[in-house]
Amino acid sequence: MARQMINHRGEEFARLIRKLTSELKEVFRTGNDVFLLTASGTGGMEAAVVNTLSPGEQVLVPVNGFFSERFGQIARRYGAEVIRLEFPWGKAVDPDALRKSLRENPGVTTVLLVHNETSTGLTNPLPELARVVREFDKLLIVDGISSLGSLEFRTDEWGIDVAVTASQKGWMAPPGVAMISFSPRAWEAYRRARMPRFYWDLGEAKSFLERGQTPWTPALPVLFALTVSLEMILGEGLANVWARHARVGKKVREGIKALGLSLFPDEAFASDTVTAVTSPDGLDVGRLLRTLREEEVVLAGGQGELRGKIFRIGHLGLVSEADVEEILEKLETALSRVRAAHA
Ligand SMILES: *Cc1c(COP(=O)(O)O)cnc(C)c1O
Repeated sequence: MARQMINHRGEEFARLIRKLTSELKEVFRTGNDVFLLTASGTGGMEAAVVNTLSPGEQVLVPVNGFFSERFGQIARRYGAEVIRLEFPWGKAVDPDALRKSLRENPGVTTVLLVHNETSTGLTNPLPELARVVREFDKLLIVDGISSLGSLEFRTDEWGIDVAVTASQKGWMAPPGVAMISFSPRAWEAYRRARMPRFYWDLGEAKSFLERGQTPWTPALPVLFALTVSLEMILGEGLANVWARHARVGKKVREGIKALGLSLFPDEAFASDTVTAVTSPDGLDVGRLLRTLREEEVVLAGGQGELRGKIFRIGHLGLVSEADVEEILEKLETALSRVRAAHA
């Protein structure tokens, strides 16, 4: 990343972006267009919305956590008519409830869905949910920010029109680049879509990419990092990456239960990239996290309505089973220190 910058309108950059784009398509498992945007994940979500929708258009948003709330907010801010299908935080989006809601709301054109709810440590059953959306022939936009590149994700096989992810999650790179795939059906929606767009206009991204460029100056250092990430992911093998996350996720959950703690989400849908742990009664989560920080372990608290009620362990990207063992040991020690201080 500390390399000298290159001319982003030159041949060297054209080779870089073409290689990155084609390798990303392998990881997304898609033949659709894929674009690299200079943005965090939320920018990718906003790009998905403004390139497919018009003000007044009805969209269905299953809501079961902080990030699905955000997806609905973005669409509403741009004038879409958002129909919320709510589930308790920590419960998965139910395919039958989705089917019922699509039946009751025939005006809906598009479903905005979060695959892996990082806020609650839950993975929604995307293949089943995508099948329901296909039954009704609606556009499906998926926030795969904390799943793509880590968890099984089959864009074309599952029929996902738009998928979004971001460099700082399972891609093991610093923040600054969002990645988005866009299907032919999404391009049909693009041609009708009337929401305002300039920086996010994927039509611009497409015509520039044909010349090996991006419309606006790209975050070159993050792209340099992503080339290495893709080497690592494709070198390990995508199926092996998925399997490693499954093993690591299971090990974290078993370790948490062995410490006498309980998982926040419905365990049948517990995520293999982030584990949300219910804070035991009387435990000061802030103090626990500060104690762990001294041991160079950085865990996260809860977001939104879960602040103070849970803490979260991230295990996406470059995480091994040995890392999990070390973290669980340090968590055990920190828990007893915090409890002793409290007693
Ligand atoms: C991290 C995350 C986001 C937000 O991404 P930013 O990069 O912070 O903008 C959105 N959705 C999910 C599921 C995430 O995990």
